Amino acid sequence: MKVVGEPDIISVDVDSDVRREHRELAAENRKLLDRHGVTAIDVMGSVGSGKTSFLMQVARRLKGRRMAALAGDLTTTIDAQRIIDAGMECIQVNTGRMCHLDARIVRKAFDELDLESLDLLFIENVGNLICPAGFPLGSHRRLVIISVTEGPYMAVKHPYIFMDADVVLINKVDLAEAMKVDPASIEGDVRRLKPGVPVVRTDCSRGAGVDEALAALGL
Ligand code: MG
Ligand code: ZN
Repeated sequence: MKVVGEPDIISVDVDSDVRREHRELAAENRKLLDRHGVTAIDVMGSVGSGKTSFLMQVARRLKGRRMAALAGDLTTTIDAQRIIDAGMECIQVNTGRMCHLDARIVRKAFDELDLESLDLLFIENVGNLICPAGFPLGSHRRLVIISVTEGPYMAVKHPYIFMDADVVLINKVDLAEAMKVDPASIEGDVRRLKPGVPVVRTDCSRGAGVDEALAALGL
């Protein structure tokens, strides 16, 4: 066993037919959304990064807009309830043992919505930064939220999700000092993965930075 020096590395590359099929389903979802004039935003981040808190702030700020949310979660309805309580229509999508939403699940959820009555749809993915990168949903923009409480390496450890991100939030910046995490360093990591991507520092529980985030999303 090797106990000193550099670790050995084994790389595994999986791009299965399943993923290809999901990309096609995502393209169909996009067509359906476009036909109904709905702009969809995929909200991705780990459990506890602040996805639901962000959507609660959005519900309050964009009151009066024709919008709704889908909230993906394994078994609970906590997030959907919080979003509804903040004033946005929300449908819970329980995925059971599945650790991410996929285009097929989202397509089914569309049937529960009156797409014609909507202009905006937020899709809160299951809390996870790994597989959602490989399962596009057909959304128009992909928002990734990380929080300083997750430590300094969230971007470098999840490169694929950041390479496809349209906007990135670094959340809970009010706790950065206590966590000994430098948001500027995370921001640098994100920009190396996706040059030019808008990175916004937020405190979604109090609402700081949320207006800037909405502007970056073109809303
Ligand atoms: Mg949530
Ligand atoms: Zn997964």
